[in-house]
Amino acid sequence: MNIFITLDYEIYFGENHGTVEKCIIYPTSELIRIAEKHDVRFSFFVDCGFILKLDEFRKKFPVLENDYKAITEQVKYLSDTGHDIQLHIHPHWEDSSYDGKRWIIDVKRYKLADFSENDIADIVVRYKKVLTDITNKPIFTFRAGGWCLQPFSKLKKVFKDNNITVDSSVFRNGYYSSEQYSYDFRNAPDKDIYKFEDDVVIENEKGFFTELPISPIKNSPLFFWTLFLLGRKNPYLHKPLGDGRAMAAPGYRKKLLTKFTNNPVSVDGYNSHLLQTALGILQKKKRNNMVIIGHPKALSRYSIQKIEEFVQNNKEKNNFTTFTKMFGNKV
Ligand SMILES: [Zn+2]
Repeated sequence: MNIFITLDYEIYFGENHGTVEKCIIYPTSELIRIAEKHDVRFSFFVDCGFILKLDEFRKKFPVLENDYKAITEQVKYLSDTGHDIQLHIHPHWEDSSYDGKRWIIDVKRYKLADFSENDIADIVVRYKKVLTDITNKPIFTFRAGGWCLQPFSKLKKVFKDNNITVDSSVFRNGYYSSEQYSYDFRNAPDKDIYKFEDDVVIENEKGFFTELPISPIKNSPLFFWTLFLLGRKNPYLHKPLGDGRAMAAPGYRKKLLTKFTNNPVSVDGYNSHLLQTALGILQKKKRNNMVIIGHPKALSRYSIQKIEEFVQNNKEKNNFTTFTKMFGNKV
């Protein structure tokens, strides 16, 4: 099995966005420690709109200079030591600013598709360039902020023009819809890799793009009750390392606690409890690729232990890999 551990590298986007040190730098340094000890590499989807905003506001607010330096140095270090740096777009940064104390984050336009086609083209070019400038390596894989990349027809031409050929945003059966935020992967192919052209959930063998979906898992309500109870009982082990709070997703929490839900396989917090189970399910289905999502901000001391255990137990029999190792020669 090719195993991709992928991390969306970002702060929180609600009113309480947290600090760069606790949401990004420290938890990522723990991942670096695991990677170097076990000689495996991870893929980081870097929220490059945030780097652009830091760059814009650091001249006026020198306190941001530290955040800018810490992030750009860590991203460069990751890239130089063989981790993958790829594109993660949260276009709401276009409408957000720093007031001297905190980020005023406006998520009215949360999805790329909320922008005009000209704006989308401009955003993709500028955001991708941030990462090319830091890493000096090809950037060709995309993960949509909040999984929102539909309708893909609005992104297709810009992605082709910018040589973005691989996407890893889909997780089969995932579905959510609110005012700002929506994705619908209910009809995604039951595959671990496929080609597509106009629509991310419709396979097209002649398609220009490759989808490497995030591996799906079905969770019972009991799983999330356990997660919340453990968080109360032992916050030291189970509290996220990031010091912010996720933006509101109306109805989402209630759904998790009352129904079976379709989720991506994840290293975040207590989700990491299921890594080995999820691998077993994929092996039974004779899949070749396992894509795991995570966020440095949402890792806990528990999940860091679980990631290390998972790597340790599987590194001999399986191939921990990155998008560049798998697809980079075609770019
Ligand atoms: Zn994100």
